[in-house]
Amino acid sequence: MADCLFCSIIAGQIPAEIIARTQSSLAFKDIDPKAPVHFLVVPLEHSENLTQMSAQAAGQLISDATQAAKDLGLDPAEQGFRLVLNSGAGAGQTVFHTHVHVLGGRDFLWPPG
Ligand code: AMP
Ligand code: ZN
Repeated sequence: MADCLFCSIIAGQIPAEIIARTQSSLAFKDIDPKAPVHFLVVPLEHSENLTQMSAQAAGQLISDATQAAKDLGLDPAEQGFRLVLNSGAGAGQTVFHTHVHVLGGRDFLWPPG
């Protein structure tokens, strides 16, 4: 989609530190990391947020994010990791191409801010 930052990264028009690719998603490092490990997993097909995705596509996105976390050594039996899907501006979404944040490498508080 024109004027979408993450579509431009997927198309290779804007550089990013790519860490994984699947048939349906791309994982790259967050430019402003909030934890020692912080990357984003985005579906190749544009949607604004989770509510525009099919259950199958949303499930595949979570599965790809989980696999990437495991591949980077983030282990729930140890320090664990956190997946975040901000959906809507009021929930903190700033880039309107659905994405999963994968955060790890430190302890996290609950509830989040
Ligand atoms: P959200 O606030 O949930 O929409 O998350 C958007 C995320 O995209 C933020 O954590 C930003 O730091 C990140 N971000 C913005 N621009 C870029 C970029 N060019 N490359 C990688 N991550 C980015
Ligand atoms: Zn997009």
